[in-house]
Amino acid sequence: NLTQRLGRVMKTMRGEARMTEANIGDALREVRMALLEADVSLPVVKDFVAQVKEKALGEDVVGSLTPGQAFVGVVHEQLKQLMGEAQVPLALNQQPPAIILMAGLQGAGKTTTVGKLARWLKQHQKKKVMVVSCDVYRPAAIDQLKHVAEQVGASFFPSSPDQKPLDIAAAAVDWARKHHEEVLIVDTAGRLAIDQAMMDEIKALHAQLDPIETLFVVDAMLGQDAVNTAKAFNETLPLTGVVLTKLDGDARGGAALSVRAVTGKPIKFVGVAEKLDGLEPFYPDRMASRILGMGDILSLVEAASQQVDMDQAAAMAQKIKSGKGFDLNDFRAQVAQMRQMGGMSALMDKLPAKFAEAAANMPAGSDEKMAKRIQGIIDSMTPDERSKPELIKASRKRRIATGAGVQVQEVNRLLNQFEQTQKMMKQFGSMFKGKGGMMKMM
Ligand code: GDP
Ligand code: MG
Repeated sequence: NLTQRLGRVMKTMRGEARMTEANIGDALREVRMALLEADVSLPVVKDFVAQVKEKALGEDVVGSLTPGQAFVGVVHEQLKQLMGEAQVPLALNQQPPAIILMAGLQGAGKTTTVGKLARWLKQHQKKKVMVVSCDVYRPAAIDQLKHVAEQVGASFFPSSPDQKPLDIAAAAVDWARKHHEEVLIVDTAGRLAIDQAMMDEIKALHAQLDPIETLFVVDAMLGQDAVNTAKAFNETLPLTGVVLTKLDGDARGGAALSVRAVTGKPIKFVGVAEKLDGLEPFYPDRMASRILGMGDILSLVEAASQQVDMDQAAAMAQKIKSGKGFDLNDFRAQVAQMRQMGGMSALMDKLPAKFAEAAANMPAGSDEKMAKRIQGIIDSMTPDERSKPELIKASRKRRIATGAGVQVQEVNRLLNQFEQTQKMMKQFGSMFKGKGGMMKMM
């Protein structure tokens, strides 16, 4: 993650009394890379880096801090400031019904989020919720919301494609007021791209409804493209918050930072599954670590896919995923791959901190000579020994050592390294089962 990246450049900043253009240059570059890899849009990255630079240069390095530590502090502070320090809840204290208006492009996840929100408000705030669709352009849209409402147990105010959105909205508010619905969530039509007619319509709806919450729903998978959409909606409507959907996919989370920076509005919820229980309040801290942590995994994947034999990598991934035994044949192949990728240490720098410990125990393949030696020793084993390393007892060790022209201790050391790696592979295995992200891309 970013902290690890900075760890390296921090060392070079040791022993200086303040942060200067010269000694923070490399560190700023690392910040920039980590954010771009996380899919934060370029203008936002530029602004962020410029702000960090300005703050860092104006700051004295106090007490026992090194300039490197002080720099990390500045980055952390700036990131927190940009993401918003705390979770911002929905404001629903209003003479009922409290109206929530949903806005966003087609496919962003508005209708799904209406259902998720209704469910969430019922469950966590014991609210009586009604939903209504003003999407009169696609007949299926109204049915979709009806179905969603049934699933979460929210009241559904019926509407039809031959009505006008403003009329539907007025009737729904009227009904909700008379029937003591506490929250009314209004679903609207989106378009595939920003278009004036859509903007005019949502503006008119907003003016008539005077909602207490106007939520902009945006697909996190859009990455950098989310910025333009967010800008357009933010200029049209007084947004009160953002819902970032589809964070369960391969989205790197950079959209969160970009959308927040462009609109200045808090992200209030995130969608983390297609199912209607897949909605969570947004926590800036967690998103920050996602953004910074993910960038590194992705750069690792990029490095791997450029240099490693793709078939071999796929076979390895399959093996890890299926949880089948990782043996000395695989270990030999892996050491060869490491050599191509610039050694173990280069690789491990890019993994999340969780694996740093395992990495520290893995000198295998860290240099060319050692890699060759490992291969030589494994080549002196029989196929049986390679696939069942537990067979290798004292007499076999002596035979292998003689065959490879090394001391018996070296065979022992190799077997130790192999075991460490095997252990780590098991950890990897569980990581991939959870998300499936990284190896899928390989
Ligand atoms: P709308 O056009 O803005 O109303 O978008 P929909 O609510 O119809 O959603 C479009 C698609 O995205 C549907 O297939 C949803 O199931 C899916 N979707 C919405 N939110 C999420 C989410 O958080 N995670 C996932 N995986 N899919 C989502
Ligand atoms: Mg919809």
